[in-house]
Amino acid sequence: MKQWRIDDIGASTKYYNQWGRQKFSWRGITYFYFPWANYGFLKRVWPFRGWAKYEELTAEEWQKYLEIFYNNQIKPIVAVTATWVDEKSNLIPFPEKFPAEAATLKQAADEGRITVANHGLTHCLVGRHLPHFRYSNRKAHREFWPDLPSELHREHILESQKILEDYFARKIEIFVPSGNVWSIKTYEALKETNIKKVIAARYMLETNKAMEGIEFIQDDNFVRLHDRDLKLHNIKWLTKKISLYEKNNKR
Ligand SMILES: [Zn+2]
Repeated sequence: MKQWRIDDIGASTKYYNQWGRQKFSWRGITYFYFPWANYGFLKRVWPFRGWAKYEELTAEEWQKYLEIFYNNQIKPIVAVTATWVDEKSNLIPFPEKFPAEAATLKQAADEGRITVANHGLTHCLVGRHLPHFRYSNRKAHREFWPDLPSELHREHILESQKILEDYFARKIEIFVPSGNVWSIKTYEALKETNIKKVIAARYMLETNKAMEGIEFIQDDNFVRLHDRDLKLHNIKWLTKKISLYEKNNKR
C-alpha cells in the first residue's frame, strides 16, 4: 500500500522561498526562456512564480481534508517544521504561531488519523532565508547541508524534536529532511532522539555509510504532497487525486 505524506506544515519557506521559473517547457522542449524571472516581484507572480508565496492551511481547511483522508482509509504522515522563521530571523514555535491549526493536528494525532513527523526546526538557513532581489534563494531553503557545523545539525534536530514531542505529547519517530538534503552529521544527531526512520528521496549527501538503529526509507512509493498542493487546490482536487490513485493501483 502506498503511503501519503504532506510536507511543509508550519514552515515559513512558503513565504520566503521565492524563485522565478525561467524555462517554460512542454514535452521536453523549451519554448520560452525568460532570464529575468528572478527579478523583484516577478518571482512572486504567475506565470513565473516557482514556489512562494502562499498561506498556511487553516484549522477549517485541515478539518475538511482530514475527513477526506479518513473516509478513504488514508492515514497521512504530516511532516511539521517545528518553528516559523520570520523576517527578523526569530524562531516561533509551531503551536505558538498557528495555535488553531496545531490543535486540529494534535486532535487528529490523538485520534490516530495522522502520523506526525519532524520536518526540521526551520526548513531553511536562518538569516539567508529572505528573498533576494535578483536571484533564486532555493538553496537557502534546505536546512541540513553537510558543510554546516555538527553543532548546528544537533541543535536543530534536538530542538525540533523537543518542540514537537512536547506539544503533540508523543514520541516523534519519523524525520523528513527538507529538500531531501541531510548529512552524516544529521544522523549523528538523530541517534540522540526517538527517531526511528528517515524518509527521503535520497540518502545522506556525503556518504553511503549504513545506519544503526535508524531505518532509511526511500520515498519513491509515497504519494508526496506539500501543504501548498492543499492550499492552492481544493477538496475536489484531493478527492480526484485519491480516486485516480486508487484506480491505477487496483490489484
Ligand atoms: Zn519541505
